[in-house]
Amino acid sequence: MEQSNKNAAPSRRLCWICRTRTATTREHRIKRSDLTRFYKAKNFAGDARPYHFRGEKISRLQSHDAEAVKYDKNLCEECNSAKSQPFDRAYEQFVDWMLGNEDEIFASHAVDFPSVYGSRDFEVQQLNLFKYFAKCFGCRLDEAQRAVPDDVRALLDQRRFRTGLCITFSIQPAMEVEGESVSLLNSLGTFPLLEFPLWDNEEKILGYSCGQHVSWLAIHFWYCIEPPNELGEIWVADRDRVRLGKSPITSTL
Ligand SMILES: [Zn+2]
Repeated sequence: MEQSNKNAAPSRRLCWICRTRTATTREHRIKRSDLTRFYKAKNFAGDARPYHFRGEKISRLQSHDAEAVKYDKNLCEECNSAKSQPFDRAYEQFVDWMLGNEDEIFASHAVDFPSVYGSRDFEVQQLNLFKYFAKCFGCRLDEAQRAVPDDVRALLDQRRFRTGLCITFSIQPAMEVEGESVSLLNSLGTFPLLEFPLWDNEEKILGYSCGQHVSWLAIHFWYCIEPPNELGEIWVADRDRVRLGKSPITSTL
C-alpha cells in the first residue's frame, strides 16, 4: 500500500491552479517574450545562440520555441489565458523597463514601481507582477511533483493575502558553475529548485527556493524561508520601492 503524502502532487493531468480542469496547455519555463527579446536583439545562429541555464545544466537554445523551455502540460486553457494574461503583461512591462533603464538601476540599486508602471497603476500592476512570479513558482513545484501550497494557489485570485512566498531581485552578472564563473549577460535561465524540510511547532512543512534570470536581473522565489540579505529586500507586492541585492552567488545556494 502506498503511504499517503500530503505533499505529493495531485494527478499530473489536472491543472495545478484550479485542480478541476484537465491540463491542456504548456506554460513556458522561460517567458516567450524574454526569448523573443533575445532572438530579436541579435542574429542568433551558431555560436551566437543564447545560453539557457537550467539548474546546473547549461545548453544553447536552438530557437525561441525550443522544447527545453516548456513544461509538460500543466495548466488548463482558462487558467493559462484569460486569468493570467494581466500577470504576464505586468511581467513583460517590468522586464522591459528593467533592461531598458540599466544605468539608473545600477546607480540606485532599487526598483521604483511607480517609475515602472506609472504612479496611478503601480499598486495593481505590482500585484499582477507578484502573481506572475507565484505562477512561475507553482509551475516549478508542479513539475517537481510537489503540491503547490494552498496559499500560493489562492493568492492568484486575491487582492489582499497572506502567503509564505516572497521575492527578491538582485543584480547578478555571473554565476558560479562547477567552480567557474559564467556570465549571465545575454542569457536566460532558471536557478535550481531546492527543498528544505522545516518544523513549525510539531508539524513538518517544506520550504523552497528557486528562481530565474533574464540577463543580469536575478529573481529569486522563497517559500517559508528567510532570504539572505545580500540578495535584496523582501518583496510581497507591498511597497513602491524595493532594494536590489548585488551578489555573485553560486548555483548551490
Ligand atoms: Zn485551471
